[in-house]
Amino acid sequence: MSDKKAAQISIVVFIDALGWDVLKGRQFMEKQLPFRRKLRSVFGFSSACIPSILTGLMPREHKHWSFFYYSPETSPFKMLRLLGFLPRSLVDRGRVRNLISKFIKRLYSYTGYFQLYNIPFEHVDKFDYCEKSDLFLPGGMNRGDNIFDYLSRAGVPYHVSDWRDSEENNLKAVKHDLEKGDISFALLYMASMDALLHEVGKESPLVDQKLAWYETQLNDVLHTASEHYEQVRLFICSDHGMATVHTHVDLMSKVEALGLVFGRDYVATYDSTMGRFWFHNEDARKRVTSLLEQVPEGRILPQDELARLGCDFEGDQYGELIFLMNAGFLVVPSHMGVNPITGMHGYHPDDPDSDACLLSNAEPPNDPRAITDVFHLMRAESGA
Ligand SMILES: [Zn+2]
Repeated sequence: MSDKKAAQISIVVFIDALGWDVLKGRQFMEKQLPFRRKLRSVFGFSSACIPSILTGLMPREHKHWSFFYYSPETSPFKMLRLLGFLPRSLVDRGRVRNLISKFIKRLYSYTGYFQLYNIPFEHVDKFDYCEKSDLFLPGGMNRGDNIFDYLSRAGVPYHVSDWRDSEENNLKAVKHDLEKGDISFALLYMASMDALLHEVGKESPLVDQKLAWYETQLNDVLHTASEHYEQVRLFICSDHGMATVHTHVDLMSKVEALGLVFGRDYVATYDSTMGRFWFHNEDARKRVTSLLEQVPEGRILPQDELARLGCDFEGDQYGELIFLMNAGFLVVPSHMGVNPITGMHGYHPDDPDSDACLLSNAEPPNDPRAITDVFHLMRAESGA
């Protein structure tokens, strides 16, 4: 290795769920990163927010949102319907579902994040899945180009973490590439803050501990980078924050009590913060709508609001009716998880707990206001 330093490196560190409000009242890299701003999130879970960060597009445009959508014609899960005839106590064990998820992933050569979650096997053949490809590779989007398409077309030498790997290994890998001094842009992916916040909530001292750990690790990254580059530009960004859950609502039982037949009258999927519905007749639409209008813990999102949120999909791909819970209310049971949880996201972007953050040691280019602007920042920083 020569003693001559390379000119400049821009490092973008993505910390999942590091919300603006999670940082409130806490000290986190304030000296190193004095430029601090709130970013508006995108409506949806990480499966919608991360594609928006990587493309600068809204969900309507890149077509990634909640993982499952009604599409019996294209459903890759037809064979799993048979498992619906086996006792739930057997097939619904977490380990069994994980094994089946792995099998499906391999069978169809999916390279994206794939989990069956808790979708009931007797209905799984009605759904398709939106994240079949690796979002962190060129060509990874359902529609549009991501930052990796731009970087590879422009021939920018870059580093990107393997999202399947641990934070420790991702830190090692980025430092290794920084030491070689060949790259001019790096995207470091850190996923475990999200899991911690779901588990313990944003008030927990364990969150302070985790932030202190990130600070130590990222100081080390900064140090390594400054040994090999004249100028180091560091940005930390996130996709959303975390609200504290205070009330569970059994939306599924309320809908099922209407006596409509799932699959004949309607189809629904219950995410942690929303219910999404498709209707096969007007009576079902009317009855579900008037029921949901009486549920005070959330509300039906009107079409014009979905359009403003960038979540008005062609052909109502992700639901003809979207019922969203108010922040802090959790849909239990849902098709997403069975374990009790302290924190949740995926509420309305107007909720302060939805806000993401951008922290940096240099004035960020293009006056970023929303998580989609991180894409433009990455293009400006990398020259892609
Ligand atoms: Zn999460």
